[in-house]
Amino acid sequence: MNIIILGPPGAGKGTQAQRIEAGKGLKQLSTGDMLRAAAAAGSPVGLKAKDIMARGELVPDDIVVGIISERVEDEDCAGGFILDGFPRNVRQAEALDVMLDDKGLQLDAVLELQIDDSILIDRIEKRAAETEGGPRADDNAEALKKRLDVYHAQTAPLIEYYAAKGKLRSVDGMAEMDEVSRQIMEVLNG
Ligand code: ADP
Repeated sequence: MNIIILGPPGAGKGTQAQRIEAGKGLKQLSTGDMLRAAAAAGSPVGLKAKDIMARGELVPDDIVVGIISERVEDEDCAGGFILDGFPRNVRQAEALDVMLDDKGLQLDAVLELQIDDSILIDRIEKRAAETEGGPRADDNAEALKKRLDVYHAQTAPLIEYYAAKGKLRSVDGMAEMDEVSRQIMEVLNG
């Protein structure tokens, strides 16, 4: 099974994706984590992405499409994967459609975590305060506002995109973490 987990920054995509990975044996592929690792390693892609990420903007589509296209071919993805943070705009979604088609893979479901902006700001401020070794470079008020703006302008249209394809499954991302996980498992097992 191959799925996408979709939702605004701070919605809990990473946490839920890790639980799905553990519960369903699907590999979590987080473009944010991969880009942060590349930035920390100082690779050419990482160096290019670092400042863009810190501002809360999107890194160029060809970079993330290239990363995902290579990564899904790895052996640990053969049992299925969860895309977390990708696609983030319609062009990436279209590139993903072509990529999966070319590789003979299919997309089973798109899980949307529904959540209000007011809650996200509180959550990210809390995460920034609690992160060991200091907050992520983009967990500050300015970058967060940008990330939310980018989400609404570029990523939220994917909800309609996947609804039109009959793939969208929405869950209440404002419920308690365990309840969100329960709803997700229900959707995936149903
Ligand atoms: P969040 O969803 O909490 O904002 P992520 O870890 O998913 O955090 O992403 C952090 C940053 O990484 C984004 O703001 C963006 O700069 C970059 N990024 C991650 N995935 C993509 C993508 N698919 N396309 C472009 N940029 C991306």
